[in-house]
Amino acid sequence: MTATARLAALILPVCLLATACSKTADQDQGAEHGGEHAGSGAEHAGHSAEKVAAVDTARIIAADSEPGSWMSHGRTYDEQRHSPLKGINASNVGKLGLAWTHRLDVDRGTEATPIVVDGVMYTTGAYSMVYALNPVTGEQLWKYDPEVNRATGGKGCCGVVNRGVAVWDGKVFIGVYDGRLEALDAKTGEVLWSKVTVDQSKNYTITGAPRVVDGKVLIGNGGAEFGVRGYISAYDANTGEMLWRWFTVPGNPAEPPENEAMKVAQKTWHGDTYWKQGGGGTVWDSMAYDPDTGFLIIGTGNGSPWNIKYRSEGKGDNLYLSSIVALDVDTGEYQWHYQTTPGDTWDYTATQHIILADLEIDGEQRKVAMQAPKNGFFYVVDRTNGELISAEAFVPMNWASGIDDNGRPIKLPAGDYSEEPKIVTPSPFGAHNWQPMSYNPDTGLVYIPAQITALLFEDFGQTPAQALNVWNIGLAPLKMPEAPAELAGVGEQFKGMLLAWDPVAQKAAWTVDYASPWNGGTLSTAGNLVFQGTADGRAAAYNAKTGELLWDTPANTGVIAAPMTYEIDGEQYVTFMAGWGGTFALVGAGAFEEIVRRRSESRVLTFKLGGKQSLPEPANIPVAVPTPPPVQATPEQIDIGRQLYHGLCVGCHGASAISGGLVPDLRYMKEDTHKIFGGIVAGAYAKRGMPSFGHVLPPEQTALIHQYVIKRSHDLVAQLEAQDEDAE
Ligand code: CA
Repeated sequence: MTATARLAALILPVCLLATACSKTADQDQGAEHGGEHAGSGAEHAGHSAEKVAAVDTARIIAADSEPGSWMSHGRTYDEQRHSPLKGINASNVGKLGLAWTHRLDVDRGTEATPIVVDGVMYTTGAYSMVYALNPVTGEQLWKYDPEVNRATGGKGCCGVVNRGVAVWDGKVFIGVYDGRLEALDAKTGEVLWSKVTVDQSKNYTITGAPRVVDGKVLIGNGGAEFGVRGYISAYDANTGEMLWRWFTVPGNPAEPPENEAMKVAQKTWHGDTYWKQGGGGTVWDSMAYDPDTGFLIIGTGNGSPWNIKYRSEGKGDNLYLSSIVALDVDTGEYQWHYQTTPGDTWDYTATQHIILADLEIDGEQRKVAMQAPKNGFFYVVDRTNGELISAEAFVPMNWASGIDDNGRPIKLPAGDYSEEPKIVTPSPFGAHNWQPMSYNPDTGLVYIPAQITALLFEDFGQTPAQALNVWNIGLAPLKMPEAPAELAGVGEQFKGMLLAWDPVAQKAAWTVDYASPWNGGTLSTAGNLVFQGTADGRAAAYNAKTGELLWDTPANTGVIAAPMTYEIDGEQYVTFMAGWGGTFALVGAGAFEEIVRRRSESRVLTFKLGGKQSLPEPANIPVAVPTPPPVQATPEQIDIGRQLYHGLCVGCHGASAISGGLVPDLRYMKEDTHKIFGGIVAGAYAKRGMPSFGHVLPPEQTALIHQYVIKRSHDLVAQLEAQDEDAE
């Protein structure tokens, strides 16, 4: 059956449901589908005889024989994110225009890579909502809301985001923020099975996309900022039964280790804090599968707490933190590992995207795995045995000077903050974070959304947070300047770039500089193109060989997700999931006030050659600041409030109380809100997504945070008045 017939078979029964297909006046005028326009989304598609999401291992392995589909998170099991499609290419990409848009329900960051197969697009938004869309028109076929308790938002470090679904044999799999793994009927969105994969009394979250290999749904989780023990599990795609689980770090040494790998790992940890707190090493994003060896290759996260002094008495490699690990996909049995940051003490996760490729190195064909983790080195590893082939720094760094003959980083005193505070680069934002890279076998280049950032690391003694349900990292609260000029100065030292990296020569081929860090993942195509969204709110395409900008268009909001592409009826489409969000947007965007601070708008943007649709006007942050109440605290009290704020509130409301546009900017609080500030902190708005801190903060400390925020409102009023005077 042709793609058209498959699509018609699916769409026609849907159209019997008037709510799903009748166009509203808005849609006829070219307005977008979804959210406020296309009904509640509760309607389900009708059943069709034709199979949808009819994906299995053989079909994914043969993905190049149907280049119009995008069947797995990174398109193929090797996660190259390179499409053979070239209908859109370097000579015509300037004619790209919007084919359709679809507004998502929640504006809290959009990180998903859509799947398109058998005539349907499956994608996700904040709070793990799943959308099935018509990939030609953007019309919603069904929507599934797992109804995540909004009060659990604070269990994650980096936003209530989701990076997408997996599909398999007529089912759609979603890892839900609260730790559920669920199977949905691909035709209707109905739940077929639901399993809780974590201890929900702990701060585990799922934001990553599952993968499916041979009927096994593979899923990890996050939470290493809060004290959890990392692992990855496999579940039976049909029944939801757990088949295996592999922990990344050892548990209680008084109990027998789960396996030989844990026995080996145990010897690299010290003291007893780590197993009581969990140790970290969460598998929150990257996975790749090598059908030749049967190895599932995963990336593991940072230690918990970050500061090794409190995690492991300041010593030891702490296996298998910050590592690339190969497991037998059938059994979950350990095969090999390469640890990128032994004894991590900087949040240098190795959960970043892993790409498998075959490269000619020194005249020899090598089967490699490639990763550019947070620590700033680009690694090429033999994927059959974990042997390091090469590693070079892809950004400037001060924590290490290179990699020695044993494959270990040569650490520098500039990164050692055990005796005195140090400004270390890369920062925990990473030289590269979760935003996927891509690899083009024709150019031989890897396209990395790279960035240069730094952070002041300051030992904080045993943090009080250890006893509490809050960030537990063993560092002093984040310090950012508050004076606008100084804050802008920080911004000037941060940088984002699209970096085209030659993995054989281990050097840059070209770079495109951006105004800020935290730009989107990349897509490579055989049309000699690299697509990327940007923090400053654009969708863009570059010449893959030279980096020349060939096309860009406004997206209304920062774009962080990786674009993807598909073809239906001979027409190629490129989809960008737009929607500013994630940790940098939440915490650090204040240093880039003019560039990236605007209200986040979550939307699917799909482009084709000659597309004629247009975006609605962007929503803007209101500029009027309500008159703040008078400050009623001494400078010393405000300083305590500042420290408390940067220990508890900064993760969402932003450094120096400047919001990145995802959650309310507290400096703009209205009089009525000021009156109930204490109640909100104690949980009054829990259902709206503001977690309760009532169990952590006594009222007198909440009052000091409030005073700090009021002081920041006055700072803002003064800043705006000064700007007005300058303008006159
Ligand atoms: Ca982390």
